[in-house]
Amino acid sequence: MASRQASIIGAGIGGLAAGLALQRAGLQVRIYEQSPELGEVGAGLSISPNGALGLKALGVFDEFRDVAYAPDYQVIRHYKSARILGMATRGDRLAEAYGERYYVVHRADLHRVLMRAVLANDADAIVSGCRFIDLEQDLDGVDLQFEGGRSERSEFVIGADGVRSRVRSTLFGAEEVRFTGYIAWRGLVPIDRLPFDVMDPPSQIFIGPGHMINRYPVSGGRLLNFVAFAERAGWEEEGWNIPASVAELRAEFADWHPWVTSVIDAMPEDRLFKWALCARSPLMRWVRGRVAVLGDAAHPLLPYLGQGAVMAIEDAVVLGRCYQEGEDLSQALARYEAARVGRARLVVERSSLQVPRFHAADYDNFHHSVPVDEGLGLFCYDPGRVPV
Ligand SMILES: Cc1cc2nc3c(=O)[nH]c(=O)nc-3n(C[C@H](O)[C@H](O)[C@H](O)COP(=O)(O)OP(=O)(O)OC[C@H]3O[C@@H](n4cnc5c(N)ncnc54)[C@H](O)[C@@H]3O)c2cc1C
Repeated sequence: MASRQASIIGAGIGGLAAGLALQRAGLQVRIYEQSPELGEVGAGLSISPNGALGLKALGVFDEFRDVAYAPDYQVIRHYKSARILGMATRGDRLAEAYGERYYVVHRADLHRVLMRAVLANDADAIVSGCRFIDLEQDLDGVDLQFEGGRSERSEFVIGADGVRSRVRSTLFGAEEVRFTGYIAWRGLVPIDRLPFDVMDPPSQIFIGPGHMINRYPVSGGRLLNFVAFAERAGWEEEGWNIPASVAELRAEFADWHPWVTSVIDAMPEDRLFKWALCARSPLMRWVRGRVAVLGDAAHPLLPYLGQGAVMAIEDAVVLGRCYQEGEDLSQALARYEAARVGRARLVVERSSLQVPRFHAADYDNFHHSVPVDEGLGLFCYDPGRVPV
């Protein structure tokens, strides 16, 4: 194919995975990131078998496995009694059925693995402190403009700039980013500060009225990642890193089981943040001319199935394959869109369907409700092999 160079806006998990996929397809890549310092917020991510297979296709699976943890199973408990309401298999049986296990990882660790791989291919591939503001395309390429007057020309562009994607607005028109009515707190607790029984088993979800908590170990078992969700009528603060206090979390979960409250009591306040879950409608078109969107920029979803970053990895692997196998750029991007729009829409819908299951559960019949994830057809997708 004639194109040899691509630009990516955003160096999150999606942008880095896309950069790596396109490098492996033979392109020179530049990834422009608005933050002056590269890195990820301190929180956990679950990476289901379909995501792990994506990391295999990107050639970074061994490095990822070194920093990830693979639980054998996850229990779902009643918020007050800690009664087990359901259980999700996470270990060898998933590997037998889908080719990989279910992992949990610190976001910063996965981000670092992807970043190192991209920079090992090309030490100049990532340009930080560079905020995209506008683009204009013609038949031969795309002119990109950045804050501060910098401009670049590129053969094609991938917008991986997250839920508030400016690339998306530039292509398809401005559209409000909606507050979904849910907020989340995230914290990291040193496991050696916790009573032993809190970690049995390591990976657990607690569900209560209008609230849910998901917690699992990351960073080689040194830290417990703790994410708590609650409903809110409105939200005014913006950003991913709004500091939160242990006192507010304690008040929110005051009547929960001691296995929850003891984790909150042990939480270092400098590692406790909150943010709003925001959404935009999933797009039916992801490509306009020489520009495409990927990850949350294309399909933001509620995190109740732990699939947002996984979907961005799937997008990236499929994009790289479409580029490699396409006859020209427009065919490659059309194949990418055709291969991914339906899959992403399905996962967005299924993530939203999980909300009543977790926030308004019928505890006695919980095990009859929609399966946590395995029964939803999520894991049987290998992005390195699906037809594109
Ligand atoms: C509470 C919570 C828990 C979650 N848990 C999971 C989970 O367990 N598993 C899972 O798979 N997913 C999970 N997700 C979803 C996941 O975090 C996202 O789907 C994923 O981070 C999307 O990656 P992305 O690269 O598309 O976007 P982002 O991570 O948002 O990255 C976008 C990047 O673009 C940069 N950027 C933005 N605008 C510009 C600009 N104008 N110019 C240059 N750079 C720009 C940003 O600084 C950022 O670095 C969770 C999400 C939440 C909120």
